[in-house]
Amino acid sequence: MSNPLLEQHPLPPFSRIKPEHAEPALRELIARNKQAIDDLLAANERYSWDNLLQPIEDMEDQLSQAWSPVSHLNSVCNSEELRKAYNACLPLLSEYGTWMGQHSQLCAAYQQIADSEEFSSLSEARQMAVNHALRDFRLAGVALPQEQKEEYARLRQRLSELGSKFEENVLDATKAWSKQVSAEQLAGLPDTALASARQAAEQAGVEGYLINLEFPSYFPVMTYADDGKLREEVYIAYATRASEQGPHAGQWDNSALLVETLDLRQQMAQLLGFANYAELSLATKMAEKPADVTDFLEELAAKSRPQALGEREGLVEFARKEYGADTVNAWDGGYYSEKLRQRRYQISQEEIRPYLPVGKALEGLFEVLERLYGVGVRELSSFDSYHRDARLFEVLQADKVIAHFYLDLYARSDKRGGAWMDNCRVRRIADGELQIPVAYMVCNFTPPVGDSPALLSHTELVTLFHEFGHGFHHMLTRQTVAAVSGINGVAWDAVELPSQFLENWCWEREALAFISGHHETAEPLPAALLDKLLAARNFQSAMMMLRQLEFALFDFRLHRDWSGGDSSTVQAVLDEVRKEVAVVPTPACSRSQNAFTHVFAGGYAAGYYSYKWAEVLSADAFSRFEEEGIFNPETGADFRRYILEVGGAREPMDVFVAFRGREPSIDPLLRHSGIETASPGL
Ligand SMILES: [Zn+2]
Repeated sequence: MSNPLLEQHPLPPFSRIKPEHAEPALRELIARNKQAIDDLLAANERYSWDNLLQPIEDMEDQLSQAWSPVSHLNSVCNSEELRKAYNACLPLLSEYGTWMGQHSQLCAAYQQIADSEEFSSLSEARQMAVNHALRDFRLAGVALPQEQKEEYARLRQRLSELGSKFEENVLDATKAWSKQVSAEQLAGLPDTALASARQAAEQAGVEGYLINLEFPSYFPVMTYADDGKLREEVYIAYATRASEQGPHAGQWDNSALLVETLDLRQQMAQLLGFANYAELSLATKMAEKPADVTDFLEELAAKSRPQALGEREGLVEFARKEYGADTVNAWDGGYYSEKLRQRRYQISQEEIRPYLPVGKALEGLFEVLERLYGVGVRELSSFDSYHRDARLFEVLQADKVIAHFYLDLYARSDKRGGAWMDNCRVRRIADGELQIPVAYMVCNFTPPVGDSPALLSHTELVTLFHEFGHGFHHMLTRQTVAAVSGINGVAWDAVELPSQFLENWCWEREALAFISGHHETAEPLPAALLDKLLAARNFQSAMMMLRQLEFALFDFRLHRDWSGGDSSTVQAVLDEVRKEVAVVPTPACSRSQNAFTHVFAGGYAAGYYSYKWAEVLSADAFSRFEEEGIFNPETGADFRRYILEVGGAREPMDVFVAFRGREPSIDPLLRHSGIETASPGL
């Protein structure tokens, strides 16, 4: 049987990839790689980049090229068979990773290269790749006695299963809930959301309207539905997903998985000689020690809380006075906030939508990228696709194709929620030829309804720019060593710098002039609307800041302090953080931690703080553009040269300082967020 995953292709042959190809391909490649690595080690006594590390990179890249489309399809075209095939591969990859990571002889070979004469003559990128590899050997337990190595492998494998199951439960619990409603029950919703709910009902073959817990349905209900009882019902269904509470109590319950995950992470950290998992997490990050993180988060919280309390008070007062509401519950906050926003700024997200048809927004985005980085983007009309919504583009530098990306914009039921960029091909030298980078860009925007184009909210526009920030970090890299190419090897708490950075152009008058264009009249966003949008930008920003800090502190303290317990222990940590930080009450039945996939199914364990950390970096980097002009080509070229092109080849602090000329300051972030602090200059 020919297996497309074992063939070499410049781009994945999606139409030929079937679930049954995944496991055999991975088994074969992993077995081949293991044998080849042992052969290489046996064939030499003196190791070098050329006789060992380059061949390993080649093999690893082939494995990554086989796995990347499987992983992508599992996220964007999920099916029972694919999920099974994907899950069958996870333990293979995990076992292989452990085998590599704990290979003492391989580690000794890397060490020999690091200690050799040759080392200082290697490029900066190669040196960094070797240093990262040595660090990762240590973190994989290479130095442990055999019995503990096996223990480590067992932990790692089980953690990977737990993460995968956790995410599945969230996906299933989200999909499980929907509600058939009447037009009266949806009173208050904007037309686009109503049309989507109508379309969902038609597709499901039911009368009236259908709402569900996917973001494009959940969000408008929480923001606009006048029916408080309905909002409460939807909120509770959402906040109790995958838990022992709510409408599907006990089904897809993540409570036990969550506790087991924490136990195993703690065991793993101690096995490797760290006091706790938070310390282990920081071993690969820009922040050096736990106190760096907690001090940072607590300082931001302290500076934001007074203003957040004022914002909350204003909201409660408004709801009482204007709507006679005695309380503003968790499910009321979004609704009254939107009303207050409209009152104060006479603006709603829905008024912006007609000016942000997705085609115009993309053109505008590409124009920004061209002005900043001097690159062009062109769509390709024919390619091997996996879904009719998927599109393929090439990135051009002076007519030369330097990268490709897939773009998959709309929400659908077999697609994981959220938005992300993922690596399809990394920039590297393969057999003497340059392999150009390829990215997957994925969003979950509201699909077009009927004949009108998809219209983005401003928030969705920001998301689009964010993901392209990641995408162009991956695609504009100049590195040719896979381990540090693109976002590879970039510390997690610095990796959000280019993404959050690019969001800034969604708020600039000069940029919005060509990013926006009414879908019927092509008229750009009118100045009056833009003024209101800008005035509303920092509406409740201190409350939003605290919400993020709540997640980040919960995640970090949970992993720093965990010493066993049950789900009530987890709840207690969250309650404590909320007591300190939150200004909005959360109902006792809420189990948002049970759907916190970033931390329990993704790479953000003891690392959720990274978003804020990187936001400080991105706000400060953007402040140089504020000083020198937001389309200043020299500043753009510097950003490209000192940050995007460097990837993981240099320490993140050095990367930042090279661009900014000094270490980062938190002031630009507070200023951009409109948070007034009592003592300026602090
Ligand atoms: Zn991001």
